[in-house]
Amino acid sequence: MATTPATGDELERKSWWLREVAPVADVTPLQRSRGADVCIVGGGFTGLWTALRIKELDPSAEVVLIEADVCGAGASGRNGGFAMTFWHHFLGLESACGNAAALWLARASTDAVEELGTFCQQNSIDAHYRRDGWLWTATNAAQLGAWERTIAAIERHGDEPFIRVAAEELQARSGSRAHIAGVLEPLSATVQPAALARGLVRVARQRGVEIFERSPMIALDRSATLAVRTAGGNVAADRVVIAMNAWSLRLRELRRALVVVGSDVAITDPAPEELARTGWRDGVSISDSRLMVHYYRTTLDGRIAFGKGGGRLGYDARIGTSFTGSSPMEQELAARLRDLYPAFAAVPIAASWTGPIDRTVDGLPFFHALGRPDLLCGAGYSGNGVAPSLLGGRILASMALGRDDEWARCGLVRRPPRGLPAEPFRYVGGRIVRSAVARKERAEEAGRRPARIDRAVARLAPAGLVPLD
Ligand SMILES: Cc1cc2nc3c(=O)[nH]c(=O)nc-3n(C[C@H](O)[C@H](O)[C@H](O)COP(=O)(O)OP(=O)(O)OC[C@H]3O[C@@H](n4cnc5c(N)ncnc54)[C@H](O)[C@@H]3O)c2cc1C
Repeated sequence: MATTPATGDELERKSWWLREVAPVADVTPLQRSRGADVCIVGGGFTGLWTALRIKELDPSAEVVLIEADVCGAGASGRNGGFAMTFWHHFLGLESACGNAAALWLARASTDAVEELGTFCQQNSIDAHYRRDGWLWTATNAAQLGAWERTIAAIERHGDEPFIRVAAEELQARSGSRAHIAGVLEPLSATVQPAALARGLVRVARQRGVEIFERSPMIALDRSATLAVRTAGGNVAADRVVIAMNAWSLRLRELRRALVVVGSDVAITDPAPEELARTGWRDGVSISDSRLMVHYYRTTLDGRIAFGKGGGRLGYDARIGTSFTGSSPMEQELAARLRDLYPAFAAVPIAASWTGPIDRTVDGLPFFHALGRPDLLCGAGYSGNGVAPSLLGGRILASMALGRDDEWARCGLVRRPPRGLPAEPFRYVGGRIVRSAVARKERAEEAGRRPARIDRAVARLAPAGLVPLD
């Protein structure tokens, strides 16, 4: 039985993208006990793509998806909407799973961006998909050439996903003279992420996936048959897939797998004339080369959405409300946006928000059975999950159906990478490292040489966009 819809006011606290798709009607909590072939816990992109893929491979499978909030209310409806490939993470992929697997995954991620667009088109999902590429840029001297080692490694294998762009062309295309160098990766796209998430919900339901929202899993009964318990009922399932992103830290096996870091976004009012004046005319998305990366993109109605990674750190599995609501960094985001785009000096900020990132030590996700073959999980996208979650869905679906195929055997089917200390050391150490990174990046921005201690401590940070030594 459907309950009250999620209203615009409620969704606005999570992101402006979610506000744009409000109200979310048809919110049905689980109110009885039942069985299923597969129960998926978490209704973000990972859970939804997994459900869709299972139905594609085995239309008769009974798939139930349980979501604590409404689907898309987690990171999937709050992100920057950069649907990126894995090419910028090529070095990390190589060390995690070797040359051949890295190439296979990077090429598969290129296909994933394409398929995302095709899926939206074929299923009438208006997710504002634009495949205009991604600019990986430097905005100060310390960032120059951040991409070189990655490009060199890829070129050794004959692929050329990046195009070198002269500074003048880069500045014209990005609409800002602050970009002093950069490369274009033309394969990536942008989406309105909440519209994508709600579109996936609609298609999944049409294909027979049963989705229960406002139904948090409150316990996982690990008897011979797994059962997911919610306040209103439970689902006994042959397979359970944990697709809970940062919230998966609540499972004991994943306590040391992730560190939760905030990412923050501010979005302006529509200002199509000001945007046209900058020269940033298409949907190309842009990042600089910091570890606490700045990322920005336009919207169809002429706004700029401006984000920054590396916000607050989570303690243990406590995500709570501190990773929801308007961004504590709104003013900093607005100031940086206006530095880069002076034409936006007088354009108001319409909204800001924050959300949790499930960061692993190597910046890549993992897909893994948690001690028994019927309990699976996928997490750790580390801020690059919009397109890779489509691959995550394929991997988890193959694992859930017990298939021995290229997805179930791929390089990201692995244990969570090790290296994060237990609490309270993770939190205390994380704060020290985060402060060192912030000081280092502030010094670099000001054209000063960072203190040696800050450079040394900053090297301990989990991998970001720029490969660490
Ligand atoms: C501010 C921000 C900006 C980002 N920008 C980008 C970007 O531009 N490009 C990019 O590729 N990636 C970006 N990311 C990362 C990207 O959003 C995620 O990697 C991706 O959405 C992961 O999807 P998911 O399904 O794994 O997680 P989620 O969408 O978080 O889904 C997990 C779901 O589990 C639910 N859940 C939690 N606990 C329970 C429970 N007990 N029972 C049932 N359900 C539960 C949550 O409510 C949530 O809906 C960003 C993330 C944030 C926060």
